[in-house]
Amino acid sequence: MNPAPERCDIAVVGGGPVGAALALALAPAPVSIVLLERSAAAAREGSAGSRPIALSYSSRLILERLGAWSELAPTPIRRIQVSQSGRFGRTVIDPHDTGTPELGYVIEYRELAQSLMEIVHRRAIPVVTSAQLQSVRVNPDRAELSYLREGEARVLQAACVVHAEGSVRDATHGRDYAQEALVALVDCEPAAGNCAFERFTADGPLALLPLAGRYAVVWVCSERRAAALALAAPEAFLHDLQSAAGSRAGRFTALRSLSRAPLALRYRASRIAPREAYIGNAAQTLHPVGGQGLNLGLRDAWELARCIRADPGSAGSAPVLERFARARRLDMVATIRITDLLATLFTGDNPLTAAARGAVMTALDLVSPARRFFARRMTFGASALP
Ligand SMILES: Cc1cc2nc3c(=O)[nH]c(=O)nc-3n(C[C@H](O)[C@H](O)[C@H](O)COP(=O)(O)OP(=O)(O)OC[C@H]3O[C@@H](n4cnc5c(N)ncnc54)[C@H](O)[C@@H]3O)c2cc1C
Repeated sequence: MNPAPERCDIAVVGGGPVGAALALALAPAPVSIVLLERSAAAAREGSAGSRPIALSYSSRLILERLGAWSELAPTPIRRIQVSQSGRFGRTVIDPHDTGTPELGYVIEYRELAQSLMEIVHRRAIPVVTSAQLQSVRVNPDRAELSYLREGEARVLQAACVVHAEGSVRDATHGRDYAQEALVALVDCEPAAGNCAFERFTADGPLALLPLAGRYAVVWVCSERRAAALALAAPEAFLHDLQSAAGSRAGRFTALRSLSRAPLALRYRASRIAPREAYIGNAAQTLHPVGGQGLNLGLRDAWELARCIRADPGSAGSAPVLERFARARRLDMVATIRITDLLATLFTGDNPLTAAARGAVMTALDLVSPARRFFARRMTFGASALP
């Protein structure tokens, strides 16, 4: 085991995609960085297991700037069909609506996280694995971070501690949706191309994301229904999935993998504290409808790195952290609101809610400016282009 560093300018806690992206964005700046990761090999599964990630075009721009994009092999999304099961209302979004070459990209979480960590290693950014954060004590000019490394207590002094550990430890706000996400990979005939499907069902939203010829499925259900579907035989699962998805995507022929993820909204009232900053899921953990969590987290990482790079001698100082918090506030609040609205209003079989859903989708379909506004908002967030 290599000796762990005892002092640095920026300690990044968590080697998931957001922590790794921050380390890469900071690497060119004259600041010393140490990345602490709980698992033995960083970023194997993240805090909620493996899953497909829909990356927005704005995330692509960030990953290009980090030198990571060319190492990834995501499946492009060129069309999104939004509909609701058994009722009227449908809209189709294409790249004309966003003004981008593609609408987004689908990649397996593990592939993204591992590629980013490989680049972190290649750029010789110090990484301490098997390191579990215990506590942070703040002095006026430094923070003292205590962690366990393979059972042994260690201390790291840093001018700034950035929390990217993937869950909100002391959430002040949130909501339990009493729902779970079933995350599956299925074969389909014909093979999946570049169209994604978002379907609002009585149970909850169902996303079919094209991933290398298959569909990655994120199906939000009540906890009871998710438990029953997870125990069902593969044929029974595929049958129920087909009924919920309809026939537009084709015929599901085989179930490759299936797992469950609990869902909740959790966020901190403030994403900064003296000498501490919170980014990605450590600042806000969202419902996966709309695929916004990681995209928002990458924008957090990019903005924090931008603020620190502008004043590297003052990393962790109150003015730098406050600049970061101000810059991220609108994007965070707007993304939380829109995701929460999609998760609540767009779920359930109440005829009035279903009619409202249908009306919203029909309006989006007929009124191009409204559709473009919505599509660009989901692509770029409420922030300037990175
Ligand atoms: C089913 C599902 C589907 C999703 N789909 C999408 C999507 O399509 N698009 C999208 O943008 N987002 C999506 N998300 C959200 C996305 O997965 C998260 O927003 C993203 O993984 C957050 O990245 P992160 O780096 O902040 O946290 P994580 O990915 O959770 O990584 C956190 C890292 O910190 C480490 N860690 C944890 N605790 C400690 C500690 N105490 N000390 C040291 N290290 C620690 C962990 O081991 C891990 O490596 C989805 C989520 C779910 C559940």
